[in-house]
Amino acid sequence: MLIGADWCDAASGRRLEVRDPATAEVVTTVPAAGAEDVDRAVKAARTAFEGREWGGARPVDRERWLLKLADLIETHAAEIAEIETIDNGKPLVISQRVDVPSAVDFVRYCAGWATKIEGTTVEPSLPGFRKNEFFAYTRREPVGVVGAIIPWNFPLLMAVWKVAPALAAGCAIVLKPAEDTPLTALRLAELALEAGFPAGAVNVVTGEGPSAGAALAAHAGIDKVAFTGSTAVGKRIGQAALENMTRISLELGGKSPVIVLDDVDPAVAASGAANAIFFNSGQVCVAGSRLYVQRKVYDAVLDGVSTIAGKMRIGPGLEKGTQLGPLVSERQLDRVAGYVRTGLEEGATLVAGGSRHGTRGWFHQPTILTGAAASARVAQEEIFGPVLAIIAHDGDDDAVAIANNSVYGLSGAVFSKSIERARAVADRVRTGTISVNGGSFFSPAVPFGGYKQSGIGREMGKLGFEEYLEVKSVAEGVK
Ligand code: NDP
Repeated sequence: MLIGADWCDAASGRRLEVRDPATAEVVTTVPAAGAEDVDRAVKAARTAFEGREWGGARPVDRERWLLKLADLIETHAAEIAEIETIDNGKPLVISQRVDVPSAVDFVRYCAGWATKIEGTTVEPSLPGFRKNEFFAYTRREPVGVVGAIIPWNFPLLMAVWKVAPALAAGCAIVLKPAEDTPLTALRLAELALEAGFPAGAVNVVTGEGPSAGAALAAHAGIDKVAFTGSTAVGKRIGQAALENMTRISLELGGKSPVIVLDDVDPAVAASGAANAIFFNSGQVCVAGSRLYVQRKVYDAVLDGVSTIAGKMRIGPGLEKGTQLGPLVSERQLDRVAGYVRTGLEEGATLVAGGSRHGTRGWFHQPTILTGAAASARVAQEEIFGPVLAIIAHDGDDDAVAIANNSVYGLSGAVFSKSIERARAVADRVRTGTISVNGGSFFSPAVPFGGYKQSGIGREMGKLGFEEYLEVKSVAEGVK
């Protein structure tokens, strides 16, 4: 792992196995950082943040290094995509067409912000002073040392979503990747050094959540925690951060509703709904895992989604033609299988899939459950696998009510031929993002984040960048 300029082992010497989800075989090992290593990394970041080379770098230098980093990721795109697929299991085409190019685009987008940080001038009114005897302005300053903790579903992309805005703002960062998928974060750190970032601007500690992650979130030497992962861990991180008044941005779980209205072409809606849940084997925070279909088109849409599920090519990510790769770990496979059992115990009916696929690796069939109550666990809890609950609704008001019956508020989708009708429904759904007649979308310039228990703060866009800045108000007496 990278601390300052050193590629180092954990102080304890302990290592973690990294397995290929398609075979369950160990591909390599990485250091298992403990609190002592995290402390060293935070100190290295602080030294860089306060030092001449990084702390004193001009906005144009940060922009140039970020652009160079984007170029280097692009140059090594094929290799990075392959690492991602071996580490996470996802089909190589997804790594090649989504993960890596989106990371490149996002780093370039953030590079542009480095030179566009602006404050304001303000005319203050103070008792006892005349106009123009005081002058005030605001400065946007980097928040400081950032601790970033990320999940395993889009390892490179989640890393750059935190690293790139932090560096554009002038922060130094300590990144802890998920223990299941640490490899592209390490490669990213290597490329950051090659791009010219001074030592200590980027540090990567590999390790487990409850030890390395918890030590980072609770460290009094960091100024901000940026976390993506489950709501349960997010709450713990938020509590630890509050102890030191550390700034937080939390991108947490979701149970995103896909609402189909009765004027749709059922084939179009079925294809959109299938993509919303089965993309990346359902291991997506915005996965459309609750499908609400208006009764008139319910059978046709159910039939369409089931047909797509039944035909999906399941296989190793490196195998050509694979549409559905394995789940990331045995733990995740057990979790998904457990939810399917729970759904059936709660009275749902299985209409597609339902089981593990094969015996080697951690594959699960695309699975569809019908007849679950809107309050059932499979319709309320984040499963994070290729499992879809389909429920009938009785029209726009009913759909909005069941969609909003959730502790989550991350994302959603509405399908209708009438843009006016779809927009009216979308406006009433309490989620941070929502799409109309399309799948979930991510664009560097569009803010992303959750309402309710899906998080605090935004990533991407100007709002996401500003999460890495503080505001300082300066007042000057001009007499
Ligand atoms: P976690 O929330 O546990 O993991 C996310 C990150 O947090 C990982 O880096 C993890 O480390 C770290 N972490 C875990 N525990 C702590 C802790 N106490 N303090 C600090 N950091 C910690 O998700 P899981 O990997 O356990 O997945 C469980 C479920 O979470 C999934 O099934 C899914 O429902 C949800 N999830 C949601 C995501 C989203 O984007 N909305 C992303 C990932 C998961 P480590 O890898 O070592 O555990």
